Amino acid sequence: MRFDLDAMRAAPGKVFRLAGPENISTLDWRGEQVRVEGAVYAEASAFFESSANQVVLTVHVRGRVHRPCSRCLADVVEDVDKEEELEVFPDEIQGKYLELRPFIEAGLKLGLSSKPLCRPNCQGICPYCGADLNREPHRPDCTRPRTPRDPRLSVLATLLGPEEKSA
Ligand SMILES: [Zn+2]
Ligand SMILES: [Zn+2]
Repeated sequence: MRFDLDAMRAAPGKVFRLAGPENISTLDWRGEQVRVEGAVYAEASAFFESSANQVVLTVHVRGRVHRPCSRCLADVVEDVDKEEELEVFPDEIQGKYLELRPFIEAGLKLGLSSKPLCRPNCQGICPYCGADLNREPHRPDCTRPRTPRDPRLSVLATLLGPEEKSA
C-alpha cells in the first residue's frame, strides 16, 4: 500500500485515501516475536501541505495478535485498533512513493499493551519451583521464602488485594 508523492505534490490539500489488507505475519517488538493472526486491515489518508513541504498522514490499523502472557507465558489474544497521525517529509524519502508498511507496523506496535495478561488476576509461574500457579500449587521442593503470618499484616494484605499478597 503506498501513496504516489508526485500526485500528492501536484494537488496540495487534496486528501488521498487507501484502504485494504496488509499481510504481516510477525512483528518484532522489543525483542518479542509477536504473531499476527490473519491480515491487518489498514486505512490511510494523506494530503500534501505545500507551505511546510510535508505530508500529513493518518493511519488506522486493526489486527489480531498473539503474545505470551507476561506472567505465565500462556497465549494471549489482543485485538489492536490504533490510529496515528504524523508528518512525513517527502524530501527525505527515496523514490516517488510513500510506502505505508512501516507506518502500519508502527501503528500495530503502538497498539500493543506493555504487559499482556491471560486474565486480570493471573498468578504466574513461581520463579522458585516453576509451577504454573494458575493450574497447580507450589511443588513440594519449592524454595520460595515463607514468612510466618503476622496477624497485624493481614489487614494490609486485604487492602492490597489478591495480586499483591505473597502466594
Ligand atoms: Zn497468565
Ligand atoms: Zn513455588
